[in-house]
Amino acid sequence: MGTKAVSFVFVCLVPLRLFAWGSGHDQVNELAVEMLHGTVPTESAANIVKWSHTPDDFTPWDKLKHFQVPPDDLAVLKAHRMDSPYSVHSPRGQAVAFILLVNAFQVNDAQRIAFWSACLLHALADEAACNHDPLIHYATYAFTGGYRLKTGAGVGLDFSNVARTAEGKELVRRLAAAETWRPLPSDPDEALLAIMLSGLESNAYMTRRGSIIAASFAIGATQEQLAASKIALAELGVHGAARGRDVIRAGKELAEHGRIPKLTSQLEAAFAKRKAAEVAARPLSDDSLYADLLKTQAPDDQSAIGVLVEPSVTMNQAHFSFGSKLITAAAARSMHLAGVPFRLVDVRSLEKESALNPKVTPVLVVCAGPFHVGKPARDALAAYATAGGRFLWIGGEHGGLLGKLSESLSKGDPAVLPVSNHYGQDTPVAATARFRFLAEFKEALGEQSYRFVHNPNTKAGWQVPRCSYLLRPAASVTVLAEMHLPDKTLPVAGAWLGPAGKAKAIFIPEYLIAPYVLSDEDTIPDLSRPTLDKVGSRMLSAALATLRP
Ligand SMILES: [Zn+2]
Repeated sequence: MGTKAVSFVFVCLVPLRLFAWGSGHDQVNELAVEMLHGTVPTESAANIVKWSHTPDDFTPWDKLKHFQVPPDDLAVLKAHRMDSPYSVHSPRGQAVAFILLVNAFQVNDAQRIAFWSACLLHALADEAACNHDPLIHYATYAFTGGYRLKTGAGVGLDFSNVARTAEGKELVRRLAAAETWRPLPSDPDEALLAIMLSGLESNAYMTRRGSIIAASFAIGATQEQLAASKIALAELGVHGAARGRDVIRAGKELAEHGRIPKLTSQLEAAFAKRKAAEVAARPLSDDSLYADLLKTQAPDDQSAIGVLVEPSVTMNQAHFSFGSKLITAAAARSMHLAGVPFRLVDVRSLEKESALNPKVTPVLVVCAGPFHVGKPARDALAAYATAGGRFLWIGGEHGGLLGKLSESLSKGDPAVLPVSNHYGQDTPVAATARFRFLAEFKEALGEQSYRFVHNPNTKAGWQVPRCSYLLRPAASVTVLAEMHLPDKTLPVAGAWLGPAGKAKAIFIPEYLIAPYVLSDEDTIPDLSRPTLDKVGSRMLSAALATLRP
């Protein structure tokens, strides 16, 4: 793999413990069974629906209560290191489930056909489930589920919210009728590849609809917005059912022709290559939370604040933190509302020369999380800094790109960090930590101490705003924020000052600027157009004023 490809290696950093559709999986599988009339044995139908939640389970395969996985299937699962039904969620898991479905069709075993059909339908439906949209996810697990902020009523976030009503059933039926069969390639390995890649297309189909669904949660949403949201939510469920139908039909046809697919290392390499190419070509506007910003950003030749962004890929995969998309979109929108010209800088464009010129983009806002980018992107950012570019870095990792500031940042003892690094866990520090702002930030935010009004350590969600770094005071580094604990004070945010008293870089932990953590605002007027809260907006303005040449 060349260095160019390396930058598109995506890493899952947090355990996948989130479930996507809830009871909506029942309606997806019911619909798929209708679409599969004549393809699956009649005796399989009821169990395809009954077993729709199978993949949301970490029980080892051989300990499942509802279905005894046959020894031959167990051997295949073991050979591919699939420990439990949860593993079916990944593209590899989908491929293995498909192979086992083809085997089941070959011997016409109705129970096995039902089991592997149910598993595949679930996994393919999850790829288009709207809680994997960066905006809907943040809203679900942080804003509403975690922080209990008020929004408009909305049309719901689960396919079942529309698929259960009489009116919704009619809508689903109409949409399903338009979903014509899309045959998979007749070559078994090509079919397997198509299945593994299908999640990328489903993800884009879904993220294009995130803002439409979120708009129904605006206070005073219009009838038109509510109707559009219902259609979008219904489309996501129908898409999952239809793609599952295509895959199950393909499985039956391959079985009839005795063409059994194999998941080989060559096929996995081909998948990685095709996936990288598809991710590279995905339009940023497919992420609906960026779509309106692409229209309001500054023209190429106008000086503007850059905001580094990345596209969604699938499930929780990201170069940056999962919450980065929401935070960067909110920061860009806050700038727009404040009349500050901004431009979105796509992380995929950094390798192109001229992507970042300090003359037109004097400051770049980066919300980095684990900062999983390849060497070419890092080199481009380092060259930008050398040429005079300045960073407002919301960390996460800083990649050593912040000069004196990077030298002064070191990892804190987990016992003193206000945000836990472990999925779904809280920390006692979250309740006792108080934050005070200093220097330029004190002018913007006052002398009072701030606390977590809403605890960012949510019980579920990939969006938790983590930062493990503390700042050691040093020459030419100014502390901008410190955390007060009952027995100590720890600097957490700071600026690296250049000779003229202007900052070359600012580092802010993600938990200080993530929306609605430090602010006592209790209502989100329009969920589809997120902005920073009033504390974050002031912090952003103060940071940009300190950084601007
Ligand atoms: Zn699931």
